[in-house]
Amino acid sequence: MRAIFLDRDGVICKNKSDHVKSWDEFEFLPGAKASLNTLSMLGLPIVIVTNQAVVNRGMASAEAIEDIHNRMVSEITAAGGRIDRVLYCPHRPDEHCDCRKPEPGMLLQAAQELDIDLKNSYMVGDAATDIVAGQRVGCSTFMVLTGRGLQQLVHAFRTARNTFTITRNLTGAANQILKNELQLTGAGELWQLYSENYHQSIPFTVK
Ligand SMILES: [Mg+2]
Ligand SMILES: [Zn+2]
Repeated sequence: MRAIFLDRDGVICKNKSDHVKSWDEFEFLPGAKASLNTLSMLGLPIVIVTNQAVVNRGMASAEAIEDIHNRMVSEITAAGGRIDRVLYCPHRPDEHCDCRKPEPGMLLQAAQELDIDLKNSYMVGDAATDIVAGQRVGCSTFMVLTGRGLQQLVHAFRTARNTFTITRNLTGAANQILKNELQLTGAGELWQLYSENYHQSIPFTVK
């Protein structure tokens, strides 16, 4: 089973210089919920993998972060989308855990729990560390230019192990993934799904 891995801050919600520590600081990026609807149509597991060192830095409790995630998933679901799992790393960089991206621990954990074929899966992020984490386990990787994307681009070019795709935002990445899936699995059934949901989706552009 292929899966779609998404970073959270800068991909789904806005980055805050002071971090997102509670639900009232959480703000969806424009188009993010619509893009998640598109991705949900594919029927693949959608897993959020997010570094949240704010927890072990003592800036936000694990409960607060989990509350944010519960509400985020509720809003996405209410808008017609789906998130299958939210994994976060609470550790600080100096703790040298194996889950803080660019380490691939969260992707490996999800793969084990959901029986995911990582080599044919997708990872979308706005930081070089997202690209590296995805590439370490063989995912196709997408760098969005929302969030920190633009300022991280050069770093991503320097640290990436393989080619990655740059898209303007999650909508662009969703279109690319959709196109890829249509090619992989035979367009007919998916195309029909797409057309049926066109009204709540985004224009299908091929780049
Ligand atoms: Mg990010
Ligand atoms: Zn960790």
